[in-house]
Amino acid sequence: PLILGIESSCDETAAALVCGDRTILSERIATQEAEHAPFGGVVPEIAARAHTERLAPLVEAVLEEAGIGLRDVDAIAATAGPGLIGGVMVGLVTGKALAFASGKPFIAINHLEGHALSPRLDDETLTFPYLLLLVSGGHTQLLAVDGVGSYRRLATTIDDAAGEAFDKTAKILGLGYPGGPAVERLAARGDETAVALPRPLVGTAEPHFSFAGLKSAVLRAVQADPAPAPENVAASFQAAACDCLVDRSRIALDAMPEATAFVVAGGVAANRRVRHSLAALAGEFGLRLVAPPLALCTDNAAMIAWAGVEHFRLGHSDPLDTPARARWPLDPDAESARGAGV
Ligand code: ATP
Ligand code: MG
Ligand code: FE
Repeated sequence: PLILGIESSCDETAAALVCGDRTILSERIATQEAEHAPFGGVVPEIAARAHTERLAPLVEAVLEEAGIGLRDVDAIAATAGPGLIGGVMVGLVTGKALAFASGKPFIAINHLEGHALSPRLDDETLTFPYLLLLVSGGHTQLLAVDGVGSYRRLATTIDDAAGEAFDKTAKILGLGYPGGPAVERLAARGDETAVALPRPLVGTAEPHFSFAGLKSAVLRAVQADPAPAPENVAASFQAAACDCLVDRSRIALDAMPEATAFVVAGGVAANRRVRHSLAALAGEFGLRLVAPPLALCTDNAAMIAWAGVEHFRLGHSDPLDTPARARWPLDPDAESARGAGV
C-alpha cells in the first residue's frame, strides 16, 4: 500500500509518503526549533499555531515531489496522540479532512507506536517479538513488542524521561534548546570519568528508570566551586545515563528470552554513545541491536506513515470522530496498574 503520514504531536510538523515495500517516496519535516529556542523549551500555543500554518503546504509538497495525487494513496495516517493536544488536533483534523475529501480510509496512529515500529521501516528482517527500549523526550519504557498493536510494558520511568534529562542537562550547561544533540557534541570532547554522578535504580530488581536524581546531581556538580569543565559534566552525565539504560535493559532482556532482537527507538536513540552501549549489551545476549537511522529516531512522518502501512495490511481503519488524546499509553494494562504501584 501507499500511505500518507502526518505528524504534529510536538514541535516538528511533518508529512511523508511511504510504500509497503519500505520506500519513502517523499518526506518533509519542518522543525520549530527557532520559534521555541528563546523560551528554552516547547511552548504549546506557539507549536499549535506553527503546525496550522505549515502542515497543508507540507502535504502538498510531498504529493508534488512524488508526482501523485490523493487519489493515488491507499489511506491517510495521522498521529492522534499522545502529545501536546493543540498540535495533535491540527494533524488529526487535517488527516481526517483529507480522508473525507478523498474518500480514502483514515488510520489514527499512536505516536509511540510510530517510534516502536520505526525500526521495521528500515530493517525488513526485524520480526516479532522484540524487546524495545523506547527512549524519547517524554517517555522511557521497555516494551515487549509481540506484534502490531500488541505491546506489553515491562518498565517505565518513575520520574523524568531520558530525553528530558538530556534537555535539562543542556539547560544547566547553558547549551540551549534542543538539548540532546548539544550535550552529545560537547560530551565528545569530555572525560566521562571526571565527574562522579549517581546511577539511579541501577541494581534494583524491577527494570524501571529514574533520571530526576541524575539531573539534580548535574546541577549540584555545576554549582560546585571550582566547577568542573562543562565538557566533562556532559560526558559524565551521558555515561551515567547510558549505564542506567544498559543496566535496566539487561533485566528486561533476561526476562524476555523469546526476543528475536533488542531494538531502540525514539529521539535519544540518535545518540551514538547510547547506541554503542546498547549494541554491546545486545551482544551479551547473542542478539543484534536494531536502531533506526538517525533521521528516523527523532519525530518524523515516515514512521507514522509506516505504522499506517502496518495497520492497513491488517485491515485496520478508524472512524472520522476518533478523538485527539494528550495521553495514550501503548499498554493500557500497565497504565491501569499505575495506581497500584508504578
Ligand atoms: P515523545 O516521543 O515521548 O512524545 P518527543 O516526540 O518530544 O517525545 P522525540 O522527538 O522522539 O521526543 O525525541 C526528542 C528527544 O530526544 C529530546 O529530549 C532530545 O533532547 C532527545 N535527543 C535527540 N537527539 C539526541 C541525541 N543525539 N542525544 C541525546 N538525546 C537526543
Ligand atoms: Mg522535537
Ligand atoms: Fe516522539
